[in-house]
Formats: sequence, C-alpha cells, structure tokens
Amino acid sequence: MGLSKKKQWELFEEQLRYEIEKTGTPVLLKQVLVGDLINNELNILVRDNYTKNSIERRFLKNLLEFLNKYEEYKLVNSIKFIVNPDKFTLEDYKEQPVSDFGDNSRQEEVTHNLNEKYTFDSFVVGSSNELAHAYAVAVAKEPGTKSNPLFIYGGSGLGKTHLMQAIGHYIFNKSRKKRVTYVSTEEFTNDFIESVQSNRINKFREKYRKIDVLLIDDIQFLTGKEQTQNEFFHTFNVLYEEKKQIVLTSDKPPAKLDKLEERLVSRFKAGLIADIQKPNLELRTAILQKEAKKLNIVISNELIEHIASKVVSNIRELEGAFNTVVSYRSITGKELTEDIIDNLLKDFVSDKIKKVSINDIQKEVADYYSVDYDDLLSQKRDKFLIIPRQMAMYLSRDLTGSSLPQIGKEFGKKDHTTVLHACKKIEQIINEDEDFKKAFQEIRRSLLEN
Ligand code: ADP
Ligand code: MG
Repeated sequence: MGLSKKKQWELFEEQLRYEIEKTGTPVLLKQVLVGDLINNELNILVRDNYTKNSIERRFLKNLLEFLNKYEEYKLVNSIKFIVNPDKFTLEDYKEQPVSDFGDNSRQEEVTHNLNEKYTFDSFVVGSSNELAHAYAVAVAKEPGTKSNPLFIYGGSGLGKTHLMQAIGHYIFNKSRKKRVTYVSTEEFTNDFIESVQSNRINKFREKYRKIDVLLIDDIQFLTGKEQTQNEFFHTFNVLYEEKKQIVLTSDKPPAKLDKLEERLVSRFKAGLIADIQKPNLELRTAILQKEAKKLNIVISNELIEHIASKVVSNIRELEGAFNTVVSYRSITGKELTEDIIDNLLKDFVSDKIKKVSINDIQKEVADYYSVDYDDLLSQKRDKFLIIPRQMAMYLSRDLTGSSLPQIGKEFGKKDHTTVLHACKKIEQIINEDEDFKKAFQEIRRSLLEN
C-alpha cells in the first residue's frame, strides 16, 4: 500500500530539512509542494525560481534516490519543477498538513506566528544592515547561548521586523520542537492588562515563560508603562536564566529609551546591539531586483535603479513604489520610461522625508571635511580634495535620484564617467574601511535628518 499523501509530505519534508541542515541554508520548506506523478515524472511545485534553483543545485540527486525508496515513487526518474507562486498563498500555508498527523504532542510544537515572507533568504544584505544581519544569523545558529538579548534598532521600514522574524524561522525550521513566539510590544501589553483584569495572570505567565525564543517587536512602546515593564522584567529574567533567546527591536538604542526602567535598560545593554541604517542605492536596487525576480517580473536594471533612486530612506515605501510602477504597466500595458516613473512617483515619497539637493550635499561634505566649497566644485586636483569630491558625487547619486551626467554638470562640468568612477571608488572604500564607512554614514545621516 502506498503512503498517504500526508505521510509522503511529512517524509519528503523531513528529508528536505535534513538536506537543508547539511548545507546550513535556511530555505522555507513550505515553498515546496508535491504534485502529480505523470509517466514516471513527478511534479514538484515551488514558489519561485530561487527555490527551484537551490533544490536543483543541491538536492536533486538525493531527492530522486530518496523518492525511489517509496513504493509510490519507485519509478520516478525525473522531476519537473513548476514555478507557481499562486499556489502558495497564505491560505495554502494554513492548509498544509504539517501539524495534522494525528499526533497531539507534535501539533503544539509546529505552530508559529511568523510571516512567511520574512526569512533570511529574502533579506538582502548591504553595508547598512550587515552587522545586524551577522548578529541575527549568529543568534539563529546558536540561540540562547551567546549574547542575550539581541537588540536591533533603527528607523521605520528598514527591516527590523523582517530580520527578527528570520531568526524565528531559522530556529523553527531547524528544530520544530522550539517554541518561537513573535509578539509586538503592544500585543504583549494588551495581553498583560487583560490577564490582570480577568484574574488570569498565571495563565499569562505560563504562556510567556515556556517560550524558547521570544521575539518582541518595537519595545519603545514599553516606555512609560510601569506595570507592564515590571512584568516584562520578570518574564525576561525567567527566559534569560533558562538560556532562552530573546530578540528585541526598537526605534532607538537602549540608552535613548527614556522612561524605561534602568534595570531593563541595563539588561538590554548587556546583550548584542546592532543598528540598521538607511539603505544606500546599491542595496535599494538589489532589493527591487530580488523582488522582481520573485514575482517573475521582467524589467530592465536601469529602470529598477531609477525607481530605487527615488525612494531613499524606507524599504517599505520602496516596495510600495515598485508595486505602483509595476501595476501601472500591467494595467495600462504601456512600456515604462523614466518620465512615466517620475510622474507616477511624484507624490509617492512621503513629506516627512527630506528632499536633499546636490547643493546640500556639496555644502555638507565641504563642511565635514573642512574644505572650501568652491574648491570642491573646481577642477583643482589637490589630493585632499579628491575624496571629499568623490564622496559628494557618490552621495548625490545615492540620495537625489539625479543621473550621472546631471551630477557631473553640478560638479563643474565633469564627465559622467568621472562620476561613475567616483561612485565605484567610494563604494569600494566603504566596504574596506570601517572608519571611512562611519564617516560616510555620519554625513549621510545628518543630510537626511537635519
Ligand atoms: P521595520 O520593522 O524596520 O519597520 P520591516 O521589517 O517591516 O521594517 O520591513 C519593511 C519592508 O521592507 C518589509 O516588507 C521587508 O520585507 C522589507 N525589507 C526590509 N529590509 C529588507 C532587506 N534587507 N531585504 C529585503 N526586504 C527588506
Ligand atoms: Mg517593524
């Protein structure tokens, strides 16, 4: 007798998990579904090309061997991958029989409340988030053992929630016995207040203290809430003592969380702390390229970069801008041009985000390096002017959405290849020199925030 579909799925999934663990890659298991068997060819549905490619590259041979061990799949001699993102809606995830094998003890273990989208795989790393990413991966690999808690902070829409949940997915996929809980600080607070009002504080404690990995988002909302802070302090201590991993996010570093009890602040400071900065043009472009690939959207790199140049400081808005442009094309059927994009996105960028001009950048950079503004724009070739000039060009490309020739023009009629060279040079130094990177981030931050 063949195995039931559910059982097949379970075994298949276990095998994949095993293979995945061997390579150390977090691939979302539910991005793969077993489909029909037609003439010795088994259809396997995958969510996107990335998943298809990684399975083909890493697991294909093992997968065939593995399948052949089972009566039903004995004769399978080829596998056809069908990329079908439609199959993988949230509803489908819910219907996956992962927790439905009639084993109650397992049922509790396999649930989590993470967003399927927020994995390490879908997180693009750049200079603005690489430290936070590295810490997150370290924590995911060895939860609770090293530095606890992990505290990630940064502005809105920069990937804090994404990264935090990626940790949860990774740990969960590795060991389905781990209880991973994601909770917003607001939810935690409401949960606490309700439990007090209904005399069920014990239940509340039981719930939060048996967790293996607690992901608590936007902890800044705990400020000023004394009772909840007190309860959280105890929850924190219980988990900490038991070496359970705690991950926190916030819009500010611990030291700047006013009205938060000192004992909590010092707990937070004792762990790993990393910030996420605003993404540079390179990262913004890479994120959109990945998004396009995932959605099977064909669009030129030039246009992607053009969209990326328009939204400078919030990845959520960047994704929104991309969707606006792509929807426009699919609805109207018109070819995209830079002008159309400019027009579509002209009201898009929120008013809160400061528009920076090339001139602002030139002034700020001249100021930072204490060089003369006119010299910066001149043809002078003094050594001490070169880096500031290149830095200003790079920032102009990064922050203003101007083209290379436009920037060249604003720097005393320089050629666009000079600007391109400057951008490459600065990118390279940023990647190689930690102090230089800090200087760059400082200038960039004051441009965007002042
Ligand atoms: P935050 O919690 O910091 O406000 P989110 O984690 O909610 O930000 O991120 C906002 C959106 O941007 C999400 O859709 C997220 O997937 C996406 N995003 C953020 N950073 C990245 C990244 N490095 N790579 C891919 N997507 C990202
Ligand atoms: Mg968030």
